[in-house]
Amino acid sequence: MDMSCVDEAQLAAICAGNKVPEGAEPIALAYAGHQFGNFVPTLGDGRALLMGEMIDVHGRRRDLQWKGSGRTPFSRGGDGRSALGPVLREYLVSEAMYALGLPTSRALSATLTGEQVLREEPLPGGVLIRVAASHVRIGTFEYFAVRSDLESLRQLTAYVIHRHDPELAEEACPALKLLTMVGKRQAALVAGWMSIGFIHGVMNTDNMSISGETIDFGPCAFMDEYDPATVYSYIDRRGRYAYGNQPAVLQWNLARLAEALLPLIHDQPEEAVAMASEVLGQVPGWYREAWQGRLRGKLGLVGAEPDDHELAEALLGLMHAEQADFTNTFRALSGVAAGVAVLPPAFDSWRRDWQVRLARDQREGLPDRLRAANPAFIPRNHQVDKALEAAVREGNLAPFRRLHEVLQRPFEDQPEAAHYADPPRAEERIDHTFCGT
Ligand code: AMP
Ligand code: MG
Repeated sequence: MDMSCVDEAQLAAICAGNKVPEGAEPIALAYAGHQFGNFVPTLGDGRALLMGEMIDVHGRRRDLQWKGSGRTPFSRGGDGRSALGPVLREYLVSEAMYALGLPTSRALSATLTGEQVLREEPLPGGVLIRVAASHVRIGTFEYFAVRSDLESLRQLTAYVIHRHDPELAEEACPALKLLTMVGKRQAALVAGWMSIGFIHGVMNTDNMSISGETIDFGPCAFMDEYDPATVYSYIDRRGRYAYGNQPAVLQWNLARLAEALLPLIHDQPEEAVAMASEVLGQVPGWYREAWQGRLRGKLGLVGAEPDDHELAEALLGLMHAEQADFTNTFRALSGVAAGVAVLPPAFDSWRRDWQVRLARDQREGLPDRLRAANPAFIPRNHQVDKALEAAVREGNLAPFRRLHEVLQRPFEDQPEAAHYADPPRAEERIDHTFCGT
């Protein structure tokens, strides 16, 4: 529909989910999923509604989904609503993710419903409109596979290929090729997350998108000091989705997708398993290549040498030992390269090795290249929390707006915003995040 002729009251009603836009036929998607390793055969949009699709200015088809708009057939015991906090959190972090250059769903609007939702306490309710290439997940395939509904599985596969990978339609074994494409996309995505210290927090198979975009911003957070064991999600008691485990979970989840696709890969189960395993065996290589590429970029290297990865790992090891801030240490490299900053003395020997390596690489434009690969600003947990608290407790959106503004230009030095780059002081630390259900 043409939104330009919609007045403000109507727009508010549409964004809050009180009025269905003209011509839309909202649906709730069914899916299954492995949650923390346990299979759940029926999940689905319990707190979200797919309002429809739109073709964007680039000619790409986008899903428009209302999150928190009310109950659906998949809500089970839940109210289908969302509190304002999680809505604003997803808005901030997904938009930051976009500005950081990674594939992600985006936020179109966040709306106060004016109603209270009852959680541990009454909280203001909110609705988020999010926009994604699609909302088909690994769990969507699992939904039909577990029901042995081959016809629907076939239809879903054809639909997804038509929508995301039309060039695969003519391939001899489209399902196997789809597994390959999804594997490559998700491997690149997780390497991207790792390169900015992002911890998704709930990498369940129902939260991993076939399009390779980041979806479902629940308890996600960015790491401050480098430690692969970092976990924020309150419910992730055993650290299944810790920062350093994400590449292994990527592989585990893709194995679930492969299992779901087996009947479409070959009529003979043993043949199908052999073919799928061959693809799964390539995932670690795709991930390694993407991750090493990211690390080379973060060190400012244009060329590739066999020892580059060791050099990068040595820096990560030092950061771990020194409890150094991940984002700020990498960001400092551009200052070091420009001769206007220094690293702490513990990094001296590493810096010399790096400079020896740089001498064999392209020096021109090095500080700029480093700045473009290493953000100054990430949505630090304590800053996000402060902005959300002000909005939810005091109805004050100013801190949220300011943080959002800073995060839209994460690679630029913004001297007036320098404190947004500071790691939390001891009393500011937020160690746990919540799903926000
Ligand atoms: P999540 O971990 O946020 O991806 O949610 C897992 C499942 O719980 C999904 O199927 C959601 O639709 C459902 N869910 C989460 N919150 C609510 C809610 N407030 N009301 C109904 N269903 C919900
Ligand atoms: Mg989800």
